[in-house]
Amino acid sequence: LPTVLIMMGMAGSGKTTLTSALISHIYTTGTAPYVVNLDPACNDPPYGVNIDIRDTINYKQIMHGNKLGPNGAIVTSLNLFSTKFDTVLEILKNRGKHCKYILIDTPGQIEVFMWSASGSIITEILAANFPTIMVYVTDLVGTQSPIAFMSNMTYACSVLYKTKLPLVLALNKCDVQNADKIKSWITDFNSFHLELNNYKGQSVNLASSLSLVLDDFYSNIQHVAISALTSIGMSDLFKAVGKAVEEYKTVYRVNYEKLR
Ligand code: GDP
Ligand code: MG
Repeated sequence: LPTVLIMMGMAGSGKTTLTSALISHIYTTGTAPYVVNLDPACNDPPYGVNIDIRDTINYKQIMHGNKLGPNGAIVTSLNLFSTKFDTVLEILKNRGKHCKYILIDTPGQIEVFMWSASGSIITEILAANFPTIMVYVTDLVGTQSPIAFMSNMTYACSVLYKTKLPLVLALNKCDVQNADKIKSWITDFNSFHLELNNYKGQSVNLASSLSLVLDDFYSNIQHVAISALTSIGMSDLFKAVGKAVEEYKTVYRVNYEKLR
């Protein structure tokens, strides 16, 4: 079975660029990936798409026809698309036979996918049929302050606990921002607290308490420094994905079978 990689992360974190980089990397290993774009509002993606939500869903029409705002129109588009997802699944099952990876690019605004019923439905259908891994993309440039980093990790944490799927943290844009500091925050609780000492205010207290919760989260995930733009770290990312697939088989799959 092919492995499904779902790109998650804040708008602008680099999901679409990473999808491109993953495609190139997969081609160098001698296989073609199968690529699905679930962002109804994107411009033409910088990669070839096999299934594009925009082929069947007209986002602009949905927005204007129903007098919706941008986010409402994305949710409605995804809802419509999820009603056809059984067809998509059949295609993935057929075409996937020849692929090692199925890549899923998601809408820019993470909350739209994460907290919509259709986002959950699509994720659960994929996870029930294929080894499925969440690739949570974090922008290293935008998370240099401990508070910004914390709020981003709180989101990643909610993705992990909501989907219960293995999650790989991709620390992106390491071509312009060294990843060492963030890596030390992840691996060494004290280094994060030392950094917090430089800040004041209520959010610092919150960050301090949350870091206890996040310490447990970090121990459950792998993190890799990458650059989606220059393809630094792609082999490491695929190594982490390999381990995550083992975790899918030994944890997620086992629990899934028990619950059936
Ligand atoms: P998405 O909203 O998560 O799909 O983010 P995009 O892939 O569209 O990227 C948002 C912006 O970040 C674009 O201008 C990209 O060129 C830029 N970007 C993405 N990955 C990298 C990276 O690894 N390094 C640098 N320097 N810029 C990047
Ligand atoms: Mg995108």
